[in-house]
Amino acid sequence: MASSKKKKVCVVGAGVSGLASARELLREGHDVTVMEQSGDVGGQWLYDTRVDAGDPLGAAGVHSSMYSSVRLFTPRQVTGFSGFPFYPSSSGAGDARRYPCHGEFLRYIRDFCHAFGLMDTIRLNTKVLRVGVAPLCSDDDGTMRWTVRFAVKQGEAGGEVVTTEEEVFDAVVVAVGQYTQPRLPTTIDGMDMWTRRQLHSHSYRVPDSFSGEAVVVVGFHKSGKDIALELCEVASEVHVSVKSMDHDVTPGVSMALLHPQIDRLCEDGRVVFVDGSCVVADAIIYCTGYDYSFPFLDTGGLVTVDDNRVGPLFDHTFPPAMAPSLSFVGIPNKVVVPRFYEVQARWVAQVLSGRRSLPAPEEMTRAAEEYNLAREIAGVPKRRAHDVSDLEYCDVFGEERCGFPALEEWKKELLLSSIASMRDRTESFRDDYVDSELVMAGLRSEGWMACPHVMYPGSLYTRRRSVSLPSELRSASLPSHALRSLFARAPLLRGRPSPDAAAPPGSRGVQQRVGNLTAVQQRRRSSDVQAASLLHGRGDSGGKRRLCAGEIENKEEWAWRTRDRTCRHGVVVSLEQSAATMASSSKTKKVCVIAPACRLLREGHAVTVMEQSAGVGGQWLNDPATDAGDPLGAAGVHSGVYASLRLNAPRDSMGFSDFPFFPQATTPAAIHVGNIRDFCHAFGLMNVVRINTKVLNVSPRRDDDGIMRWTVRCAAEQGDDEATVVEEVFDAVVVASGQYSHPRLPTIDVSRCVFRVRTLSTDKYLGMESWRRRQLHSHSYRVPDSFRDEIVVVVGCGESGKEIALELREVAREVHVSVKSMDAVVPGMRKAIERMCEDGRVMFADGSCVVADAIIYCTGYDYSFPFLDTGGLVSVDDNRVGPLYEHTFPPAMAPSLSFVGVPSQVAAPRFYEVQARWVAQVLSGRRSLPETEEIMCAAREVAGGVTRRLSHAIFFDLDYCDEFAEKHCGFPRMEGWKKELLLAAIARLRDDTESFRDDYHDSELVVEGLRSEGWLAKASPDTR
Ligand SMILES: Cc1cc2nc3c(=O)[nH]c(=O)nc-3n(C[C@H](O)[C@H](O)[C@H](O)COP(=O)(O)OP(=O)(O)OC[C@H]3O[C@@H](n4cnc5c(N)ncnc54)[C@H](O)[C@@H]3O)c2cc1C
Repeated sequence: MASSKKKKVCVVGAGVSGLASARELLREGHDVTVMEQSGDVGGQWLYDTRVDAGDPLGAAGVHSSMYSSVRLFTPRQVTGFSGFPFYPSSSGAGDARRYPCHGEFLRYIRDFCHAFGLMDTIRLNTKVLRVGVAPLCSDDDGTMRWTVRFAVKQGEAGGEVVTTEEEVFDAVVVAVGQYTQPRLPTTIDGMDMWTRRQLHSHSYRVPDSFSGEAVVVVGFHKSGKDIALELCEVASEVHVSVKSMDHDVTPGVSMALLHPQIDRLCEDGRVVFVDGSCVVADAIIYCTGYDYSFPFLDTGGLVTVDDNRVGPLFDHTFPPAMAPSLSFVGIPNKVVVPRFYEVQARWVAQVLSGRRSLPAPEEMTRAAEEYNLAREIAGVPKRRAHDVSDLEYCDVFGEERCGFPALEEWKKELLLSSIASMRDRTESFRDDYVDSELVMAGLRSEGWMACPHVMYPGSLYTRRRSVSLPSELRSASLPSHALRSLFARAPLLRGRPSPDAAAPPGSRGVQQRVGNLTAVQQRRRSSDVQAASLLHGRGDSGGKRRLCAGEIENKEEWAWRTRDRTCRHGVVVSLEQSAATMASSSKTKKVCVIAPACRLLREGHAVTVMEQSAGVGGQWLNDPATDAGDPLGAAGVHSGVYASLRLNAPRDSMGFSDFPFFPQATTPAAIHVGNIRDFCHAFGLMNVVRINTKVLNVSPRRDDDGIMRWTVRCAAEQGDDEATVVEEVFDAVVVASGQYSHPRLPTIDVSRCVFRVRTLSTDKYLGMESWRRRQLHSHSYRVPDSFRDEIVVVVGCGESGKEIALELREVAREVHVSVKSMDAVVPGMRKAIERMCEDGRVMFADGSCVVADAIIYCTGYDYSFPFLDTGGLVSVDDNRVGPLYEHTFPPAMAPSLSFVGVPSQVAAPRFYEVQARWVAQVLSGRRSLPETEEIMCAAREVAGGVTRRLSHAIFFDLDYCDEFAEKHCGFPRMEGWKKELLLAAIARLRDDTESFRDDYHDSELVVEGLRSEGWLAKASPDTR
């Protein structure tokens, strides 16, 4: 590790830009400390009920400007961090809509921190008070460093203690956001004299306190529109003052009365506009935006905020005189967030580590000046210096600055259509949308089609149409009075049920709200309702039953609340049908996966995963239960993981693609299940998993249409040991039930004195039945304690044999390891067992013998699919599953039956992801399989060349795995450094079982790879 490149970096702020910075800096191997003044991460998204504090026009000591009703205005598909899609929560809780509420985004930000181990770097309740250049010390190399002074708050409010400390850092990244310091209009006379309520939208949370009041909303951008709309529900009058009738008015909001700019405020409550008109108002809310503010930053005037332009900044990021040790992430506006901030963060991280270089300071200053000049010439006001509004520029920026991939075209289209709809249909754009073919294909490719509720409201069932305002309104040249009257006429449909429609179950809440309105409001409402019901008849596509807004909202709630398996499945099936209708090819399949769902979901299939255990994780779901009178068998338990098990492949090579298996503060390094759960959570897989559901029988059926489908019979545990047996028909079944649950036992053949392996069911092992002492298979071994002071024979010296023998040596009196081949060198090694005697003697093939207390068979496992009824078309013969084309498809039943997870000695889970992607693509028709005859021949040919029971061992032939992946599904090749890392670990596992996990030395290639993925930041022996 090139430690000279590692910098001690302080990030100020744990909002999305601070967190993106932390992740990128860690990836690059820096030592990161994030200081966050609040008690949690999330920045703006950490909704804070506190407002005002006597400062309703200022920041009021509060960071977040979120109001209670905020829903994202950007679709969740483009709002996530790279490599970590903002899928709906798998727990069923939360808001799965495309434009979810603010709490849902906060949930996602927290998940992001968790998934990338960022919490370890964050100091909460730590407010940065001053950042200034650190004085040079005698032993300094002349590099600019920074002294950060900060206040740490401990204890509860009231009794809290605040201590102030200082620390020196190599670099500081400022990531404090841009939506906290209210910007107020400067041209309104009498603001100080007006005695009625005035506040900035920063201090607005809920509409309730404006009930029955006349309110003037100043500003008509995102929050101005949103707030005006929701005030229309409670206020007696809502007036909106816009700066420019030409630019600010879009036909998005009905009901509010429109005015030009305010000229003055009078003591008697009048608000006088520049056209001379006036209203008497109870309150004014300034939705007039924010200013950048860095009160803690002491740069001696080298960085300033001038009319909201931060500068000079090279590409919105580096102040030339202080780069790269001082940088800003999160300044640009009108960019894709958090994506653009990730790009900035990655650039900063790479510049700090020396992987990228910056131009000379003078050149950066000149570039910043030229940029400002170009903007001025283009007529962009200074205060909009950081408005980007250009996705192509963002792509070029990402590519040139740090090699960040361009935003996918479908995401651009989705985002741009959202922005256009927001402008034109503020009231409805979030729930009424129609996607283009390109967007649909993109959604499908990333698995969004399978997130049940994300697509639900707009695309599939119901299109909530807003009222299209008359076309005249779209003309910007209309005089203000014409606009005013049009706005006044336009009806508000939001949340209002049609009086003709039978009250749907979900509309009650809406009606109650209507019931609380003032008389004036109710009168106005009733005429609106009529207008609304008339308009409902228009624009209705496909003759579908039209639902009112309230109904839809409640329907979604209902779907979430009743997220039991029936409901979930129903939704999935419906989605499948709808997705099929919408997709150009109706290739989505209803697939049952027995025990890799992610790839199938990505391909848009309707997936049900049946899992017999009470949680996900399979083998990694450590089960202390053993034995149950069947120590040589499976003992009714799936997992054979023993307590001390540590991964035998480095975690750096063991994650799912795009989801590195980074350490977590809360996850023991040894066990994999935490990462598996996080993976399920991050990709919304729990929505499709039915736990406690054991598959009893899977059998093919031919329906009238001649298509092969599958009947799946399963027992769903209901609690209290009760199970309901149900049958269901699926288009396809993917068997992913593992290969390490059915113990394989030795047969000791005295006549030939060879040690052969047979399954327990062959019942031929001489001496084993009459040996009265303890015998168990490693499947039933958990801890060494019960072997204390005993003489133990371990049979087999594969990975688990070696490891169990090693740990037994700590407690047992003697440990003997019986091996087939004396090539291996293991302490206490003995030849194969030849005979076992009733008196406890165990005789070995070389004539030696021990009197043992226990024998542990570490003799491996057999494939077993007891539920699979294929009429003999797929069988397990001496541990070869076949015939199988490329270990995956049984020729006679492909592609509707497939196996994922049969190959052994591969990089898992990667190889299984490849198989899963292949299966998913074949099922959707994106890939085809050769003719049955051809794949049958291929399956036979492969089978002909290898020892039967090793048919599925790939022996870590990683080049073969790459070719397999490329050929079958276009899966990217495994990085060279990961191959080297994995092969080195495997080699050392064989030669040095005792210490290979904690004593390793990485090559230059591996070190560079580790750095590129951020592993070096976690590089201690116990975290790898
Ligand atoms: C009402 C509203 C709705 C929005 N809706 C959307 C949307 O739909 N889509 C979208 O993309 N964007 C939206 N945004 C913009 C949103 O703010 C950005 O997407 C993003 O959250 C900005 O993140 P950030 O980390 O740069 O800043 P912030 O989220 O503001 O985080 C800055 C962090 O710095 C901390 N901090 C500040 N000063 C100090 C200090 N001295 N010491 C220590 N910590 C400090 C703060 O406590 C905070 O946690 C919205 C903003 C608002 C206000």
